[in-house]
Amino acid sequence: MSGIAYIVSAPSGAGKTTLCKMAAKEFPDIRNSVSYTTRKQRPGEVNGVDYWFVDDAVFDGMVSRGEFLEYADVYGKKYGTSKKDLDAMLEKGMSVILEIDVQGAANVRKRMEGGVFIFILPPSLKAAEDRLTGRGKDTPGEIKRRLGIAAEEIRKAPEYDYIVVNDDLDKAFETFSSIIRAEKARSARVKGALKGFFGGLIG
Ligand code: ADP
Ligand code: 5GP
Repeated sequence: MSGIAYIVSAPSGAGKTTLCKMAAKEFPDIRNSVSYTTRKQRPGEVNGVDYWFVDDAVFDGMVSRGEFLEYADVYGKKYGTSKKDLDAMLEKGMSVILEIDVQGAANVRKRMEGGVFIFILPPSLKAAEDRLTGRGKDTPGEIKRRLGIAAEEIRKAPEYDYIVVNDDLDKAFETFSSIIRAEKARSARVKGALKGFFGGLIG
């Protein structure tokens, strides 16, 4: 059975990186997709783990060779998902979480079938601001820039299959992981794997 692609978007500070990392720990068959970006590496981030950090020339080369499933300008920097990396994992039966912005998610929806779209909401914009300040990795100017487009991003939430409010982290993860479990059990996905079982009653 091919893996499932979970497409996760949220305004900055909602806690999506936190939830996606928790999911990769909880589910042995789930990996977080490693995007390419031209943004500067933050302290503590690891090249090839958090992102592939590349310059504009490398990124633009990948765009011109058609290597991205989707890419977008987000908060003034470029971010993209490698089609080859994603397909390789899905074909192996691994499920993959794509933590991408709302523009990228809209493009994936057009180009790929079977994806599960999840939007993470902070309990309030103030909470998102406090979390970004508490994370201590972005300048006050960068935080302002990110929160400036949060309302526009949140307006896209109804286009997603699921919305998870990340107020209490444990409760939010319970919802997030329940979505993952339910999607794994969808009959449309499981049907192929059942072929030949139960004396041919199914499949
Ligand atoms: P995003 O990836 O959406 O920008 P992060 O996952 O980096 O957000 O979270 C931003 C900050 O908020 C981090 O310091 C994280 O530890 C913290 N955080 C995440 N979820 C919660 C929560 N439910 N309550 C309080 N703080 C949280
Ligand atoms: P950050 O700089 O905080 O890691 O991420 C900024 C924004 O870029 C987030 O909304 C994140 O989801 C988005 N992003 C990260 N990787 C990709 C990607 O490959 N494609 C797109 N479209 N957005 C991405």
